[in-house]
Formats: sequence, C-alpha cells, structure tokens
Amino acid sequence: MSSESAKNFSSIETPGYVGFANLPNQVHRKSVKKGFEFTLMVVGESGLGKSTLVNALFLTDLYPERVVPDAIEKMKQTVKLEPSTVEIEERGVKLRLTVVDTPGYGDAIDNTDSFSEIIRYIDEQFERFLTDESGLNRKNIMDNRIHCCFYFISPFGHGLKPLDIEFMKQLHNKVNIVPVIAKADVLTKKEMQRLKKKILDEIAENNIKIYSLPECDSDEDEEYKEQVRQLKQAVPFAVCGANTQLEVRGRKVRGRLYPWGVVEVENPEHCDFVKLRAMLVTHMQDLQEITQQVHYENYRSERLAKGVPPPAAAAAAVAAAQHGKRNTLVDDKSTGVTEKDRILQEKEAELRRMKEVIAQMQSQIQQTQ
Ligand code: GDP
Repeated sequence: MSSESAKNFSSIETPGYVGFANLPNQVHRKSVKKGFEFTLMVVGESGLGKSTLVNALFLTDLYPERVVPDAIEKMKQTVKLEPSTVEIEERGVKLRLTVVDTPGYGDAIDNTDSFSEIIRYIDEQFERFLTDESGLNRKNIMDNRIHCCFYFISPFGHGLKPLDIEFMKQLHNKVNIVPVIAKADVLTKKEMQRLKKKILDEIAENNIKIYSLPECDSDEDEEYKEQVRQLKQAVPFAVCGANTQLEVRGRKVRGRLYPWGVVEVENPEHCDFVKLRAMLVTHMQDLQEITQQVHYENYRSERLAKGVPPPAAAAAAVAAAQHGKRNTLVDDKSTGVTEKDRILQEKEAELRRMKEVIAQMQSQIQQTQ
C-alpha cells in the first residue's frame, strides 16, 4: 500500500466518518463509478451487541424494522439469515454494503442446524456467482459472496465456548473470520488482555484459521507498518458499540453513559472499535481477494472434483427451467445427488450430441464450398 493510503489510514479516525473513501487508490478509481460491493456477515449469540456495533460502524440504522423476539420465541427459532443492504457514499465513492445478520444463532440447545443454515447460505452465494460467471452477462455480475465474517465472542466466558470453536472450524475454509470480543466495557484492561491471550491460544490449539492481515511490503513507509503492527496486535478486536451521541468535555462522542463515566466507542484507550473499522476499510480489497482466490476457488474445485462442471451445470439448470421443470440443481434440497447427477449426465450427453451435429454440418458446408 502506498504512503498515500497510509496517510489516509489516520484520517479514518475522523469521527462521524466511515473511511472507505480512502480505499487504496487503484480500487478507488474503479469504485468511484461502479460503486464498491462488500458483504459482511455477523455471527454471535443474540444480545452480544452485533446490531449496535454494525450500526455504529457504518453510521446507519441497518435494522429500522427489527422486532426482538422474546425468550420463548427464541428457543423455537432456528437461525434465520437476514441480509440488509445499504448504499453509503463518501466523497463521491459509493459502497454497496450488505450485512448478513444471523439472528437465532446459538439460541437453540442443539446448534447443528445453525451451522448448516449458515454454510448453506455461504455456498448458495458461491453457487450463484459460479452460475453467473459461466453465463452470458459476466460483466454485470452482482457479487453477494461473504467477504468477511465478524464472529462475536462473549466477554463473560473464560475463553471460547465449544460452540465458538465448532463454528470457526466448520467455516474457516469458506469465509474470512475476524473474531471480535463483544461488550469490551464489561472487562478491565488486565482481564481483557488475559481473555485475548486465552482466545488466541485456543484458536491455535484447535488449528483454526482466522483472517490474518497480510505482511507489509518492505518498501512501505514506517508509519503505515506501525499502524498495521498495531492492528495485528489488537486481534481479537475488543469492541463496544453505542448508538447514542453524548457530550464529553464539550466534545460530541458516541458512547455509553455509566454512573462513573462515559465509555467512548471511538476512543482507542477504551476499546478497539476504531482499529476494527480501520482494519475493515483498509483491507476490504484484501478480504475480497482472499474470498475470490482462496474460498471461492476451494468451492469451485470441490464442485469440479464432484464431477459437476459449472458451465454444464448452468446449462442444465437453464434447460431444466426451459422445460418447465423445477430447478433441482440449485434449489431442491430434497433431491438426492444421484438424481442431480442423472439430469446432468443427460444434459451433458445432449450437449455432446449437439456438438457432433454442428461439427457434421460444418464439414458438409466446407465440402460443398
Ligand atoms: P444483538 O442481538 O447481538 O444484535 O445485540 P444488540 O445490538 O441488540 O444489543 C443487545 C443489548 O446490548 C442492547 O441493550 C444494547 O444496548 C447492549 N449493548 C450493545 N453493545 C454493547 C456494548 O458494547 N456494551 C454493553 N455493555 N452493552 C452493549
């Protein structure tokens, strides 16, 4: 990253300003016209402050119509994936941000379904991208793949819960996981340091791959290197959120008011909110590249390994739709793999036959000429 973007990095700390207008310049130029697409998923038990944090990060109310279910409803509720999209514009740069919330996660006694719902959602976005990529309108593909997942960890435990470990293990090959300790204001500095260390140890012991910030190039300027070093040191980011503006010694701040004082969300001495936001906006491009080059490629090669070549799959899906059949390849969970394979084989044979006919016709034309 250039020294230009390193300088921009510090201006991210301007209050009331998200900072993505300072994305590295090469992306900046592209995104001015087209807009920049980014999808963030937030996962964590309900009540950990996910919506408050997301609203504070992007300075917008992403969930104006949300109704919070009561405890009994929560027990019955399975995880529900809710994408909300907002368009934010800063200094002429547009960001089309989609936040996928996962209400109901961790509320059930057995959370196996939560995982499968989330995995299914992530895979569906990959699948859609794969189909679009193999289609005709490649230039205008909407990228809804999940580029980053904030995983919220409770500050009240003594490290990771079995649920946290299981989730991260199942998802780390599909998405960039950024672990976040919620409600940082409930712990002292020492307690927080201890919790961070414990979490990092547990992540390493369980071979969990979280998103790791890339190394700086040796020719980067020192200021930028230092900032990235600080970001790396802050992982897992301990954050607090608030949606209220308070006045502290003549300054307007976003914060939480307690009888003993104010916790300022954007004060780096109080929590890592500013660092988390800086990490996100300065590494949006890297998060997208890893999604494309690692996670999406994993998905694509797994699909190929299963013997389902994407263009044929897309063609088969279209052909099935044209024949008025249900799109069993993409939508129908109840259909077994053998049924899908059979349809695909049929379609592939059909394509082969068509190719042969075209080849025959071409050779006949050549002969007559
Ligand atoms: P979600 O269910 O994870 O989306 O959680 P919400 O954002 O709805 O927050 C649940 C409750 O926690 C609300 O009463 C918030 O005011 C409170 N809350 C949110 N963020 C924080 C925080 O950083 N610290 C503390 N102490 N409370 C918070």
